[in-house]
Amino acid sequence: MVTHVAAAALALGIAFSGSALDMDTVTPFMDLGECRITTYCPSCNTGAGHESSSGVWLEYGHAACNWLPVGTVIDIEGERFEIVDTCGTDAIDLFVETDGCQCDLNEYRHVYIVKGAKQ
Ligand SMILES: [Zn+2]
Repeated sequence: MVTHVAAAALALGIAFSGSALDMDTVTPFMDLGECRITTYCPSCNTGAGHESSSGVWLEYGHAACNWLPVGTVIDIEGERFEIVDTCGTDAIDLFVETDGCQCDLNEYRHVYIVKGAKQ
């Protein structure tokens, strides 16, 4: 199966390793196409609460992803999110503050890279 990311990378002539994008070759405003978006909160962050894998204290505007490096800033329909955490699925997982877990979002939304991790 070719993922949206792989398709976007291939369209731009970028060699896609199948695991993560090489941010040295990614330009700002690279169009990632429609990506699956989910949410997570302190309750369902597998016992970690506000702690992220990068050490950043999680708050709204932060996101987890296993194919975009920590430090990448993305745009989802006009809102900006920074990747600071890793994710157990292929989705981009947005951190939300809720009273009890209400993490039922699972939708495809258009995503652009605003800033690569090394830019
Ligand atoms: Zn939750």
